[in-house]
Amino acid sequence: MQSSIKSKLIELKVRESIPKIIAVSKTFKIDHILPLIEYGHLDYGENKVQEALEKWTGIKNQNSKINLHLIGKLQTNKVKFAVKIFDYIHSLDNEKLAKKISDEQQKQEKKPKIFIQVNVGDESQKSGISKNDLVEFYNFSVNLGLDVIGLMCIPPFDKESRNFFSQMNDLNEKINLKQLSMGMSSDYLTALEFKSTFLRIGSNIFGQRY
Ligand SMILES: *Cc1c(COP(=O)(O)O)cnc(C)c1O
Repeated sequence: MQSSIKSKLIELKVRESIPKIIAVSKTFKIDHILPLIEYGHLDYGENKVQEALEKWTGIKNQNSKINLHLIGKLQTNKVKFAVKIFDYIHSLDNEKLAKKISDEQQKQEKKPKIFIQVNVGDESQKSGISKNDLVEFYNFSVNLGLDVIGLMCIPPFDKESRNFFSQMNDLNEKINLKQLSMGMSSDYLTALEFKSTFLRIGSNIFGQRY
């Protein structure tokens, strides 16, 4: 074993909690996912509400231990269904959406765990709360009764993730949140160095998406 990998494993053992791997199953048919479910893996990620309802409603009814994570953009008109099927929402990124989730979780008496998405690279085309507005938005969401457990980011595709993961770790500590959703197939080892607790891994598990 390479010594760098060995030291990473030792580091992981002394962490407070073992990071969770979200198997990102978007675009894959349920037949492709079933072997992993049968093996006992419990956390899966989808980026579309409609696709998740179709793929997961039956399976979740049979297996209440499965956790479904929404990792894609959530439109307010889909919140009702999102709260119904998802246990975690990683993409809270505006006040209107926060209010809608708050209303819906009261109606359904079901509280999804929430990550606030941060636009860590200040990219105009990307969703997420800007770093400057984060504390205010966090307070706003908590006052609405949302169960905010951490921050989430998707760093710029064309840049090294390290600096962005480091900033996310600092922001999370500043707000005193325990969970961090960051790291994908290409950069999950770096995310682990910055205390990610939820890795969102798709292609490394299920293969290439078409
Ligand atoms: C698709 C997706 C992933 C998984 O990406 P891979 O590179 O296949 O691991 C993780 N996070 C988000 C938000 C995604 O949309």
